[in-house]
Amino acid sequence: MLRQKELVAVFLRCNVGDGRSASFWHDFWNDMGPLISALGETGPRDLRLRLEARVCDAVANGFWALPNARSDEAETLQIVLTTMSPPSIERGPDTYLWRNGVGHFVLKFSVKSTWDSVRESAPVVTWHSLIWFKEAVPRCSFVSWMASLARLPTKYRLNEWGIHVPLQCVLCSSGIESHQHLFFQCSFVEALWLHYCGNFGLSVPSSINAVASLLSLPLVVATPGLRVVLKLLLQVVVYCTWRERNVRVFQQVSTSVAALELIFIASFETVSSLLNLHLQPQPYCKCISLFFPLVCSVFIFALCPVVFLSSCSVLCFLCSSFF
Ligand SMILES: [Zn+2]
Repeated sequence: MLRQKELVAVFLRCNVGDGRSASFWHDFWNDMGPLISALGETGPRDLRLRLEARVCDAVANGFWALPNARSDEAETLQIVLTTMSPPSIERGPDTYLWRNGVGHFVLKFSVKSTWDSVRESAPVVTWHSLIWFKEAVPRCSFVSWMASLARLPTKYRLNEWGIHVPLQCVLCSSGIESHQHLFFQCSFVEALWLHYCGNFGLSVPSSINAVASLLSLPLVVATPGLRVVLKLLLQVVVYCTWRERNVRVFQQVSTSVAALELIFIASFETVSSLLNLHLQPQPYCKCISLFFPLVCSVFIFALCPVVFLSSCSVLCFLCSSFF
């Protein structure tokens, strides 16, 4: 944060009122900017105003009162001050203004416009709504975001970095472990997707953009909240796949798809009991009853209890919407 302090001068202005709060040397209250930068370290001595001086200290009897200029900068300051009214009690207290998105200085501070001004922006990607949404679990969102950007350290990527490891996928033992294979082409992941999509005629998505296209299906559009469940499903599949891959690579422990499905079903009933839900799946939302165990299982087995508890409200909302 301290390294960013130079940015404050760009985004903050001081509108002088009575001059009792505004720092004479450090605040941006005139066209020259912070005077300690314009006049340098000798400024306080030349103008006979200490570093802690307020703007009102430069006024006497209602007029600007500075000693004769000893430098070009001090002379410029005196010229600038002739265009400004001296501070007075009648003008009220000093106020600070923040730069908004269009470059105007206003009283209200906006985190969004300030962040947009300082960050490096890039074109909006089509899948951003699949990763960032208010019901998302941060840990799953982060892994999904990394997977979408192809930034996870897969074996294929490690080899590109010059780290020579076997390229074979540890989930199916047949493909090359790249992002595309690991999350959409691997037979292990296909089995997971089929378990939740196959009964409804939905094909296994071949990419994150294909998942995005699922959200526009008539069934999804017509069912309130189903888009959220689908987005959670994507993130849960990606998160569980990456987690299972890491467990197999680093701990040499494997969990089969069938075992995962049993865990999902058991956890589904556990969560239903914990939340005191009486779930009666309806025909039109049968898919939800299958998506739900997968989502719940992550809350129980993959995430910490705090995340689980904070997610209960979301689950309650989803359940009340669909069952
Ligand atoms: Zn595989």
